Amino acid sequence: MPKPKTLSCQTCRSREPHEPLTAEEKKWLEGQLGNRIGDDFYKCVNPLPDGKVCLNLRRDSVEKHFRLTKRLPEKLE
Ligand SMILES: [Zn+2]
Repeated sequence: MPKPKTLSCQTCRSREPHEPLTAEEKKWLEGQLGNRIGDDFYKCVNPLPDGKVCLNLRRDSVEKHFRLTKRLPEKLE
């Protein structure tokens, strides 16, 4: 299993703690993308001033994987 790590965040514009996606989050993202993905997708868990969490998505090896930034929803449908 991938481990949490510090990575650069395109939204925060700084290096922040990231966590690997849970099985549910991975399934959600696969539904969004329409294809299967590997285990190297991470979400930014940097707390924001408004009390939310960044949740911007990236790949371990690729900071700008998405043409536009993509964020996990707080609640998965
Ligand atoms: Zn972030």
